[in-house]
Amino acid sequence: MCIFCKIVNKEIQGNIVHESEHFLAFNDLYPKAPIHILIIPKQHVDCFQEVGAETMSGMTTFIQEVASKVGIDNTGYRLVTNNGEDGGQEVRHLHFHLLGGGKLIWDHSHEDAHNFI
Ligand code: AMP
Ligand code: ZN
Repeated sequence: MCIFCKIVNKEIQGNIVHESEHFLAFNDLYPKAPIHILIIPKQHVDCFQEVGAETMSGMTTFIQEVASKVGIDNTGYRLVTNNGEDGGQEVRHLHFHLLGGGKLIWDHSHEDAHNFI
């Protein structure tokens, strides 16, 4: 069983922010922003490339609820999913990173701006 499934099954303690029948939101262990929440479907799906549109439909509403609950729905946030090896995905259970609570850095320049090795 994967580490996030263990959090769903309460075998590992997660710092839970929001929960519904099908989705779970908990704080990232190593936050990269003042607010850094991971949002997952309770049912195991490896990655974004494998998820169905029906799950994503419920996920959309759930993510919006989480953003409202922690008070960043109006100030803004960044939503990220790392998919597969090149995407830098370390935990193979689909998760969205919800980052906010401060102005996030993003390189808007067009010169030498690349995010690949
Ligand atoms: P990714 O690199 O997109 O797969 O992201 C995995 C994320 O999971 C990282 O940001 C980790 O800090 C986070 N993480 C790993 N283990 C745990 C855990 N037990 N509880 C909360 N966050 C975790
Ligand atoms: Zn899992």
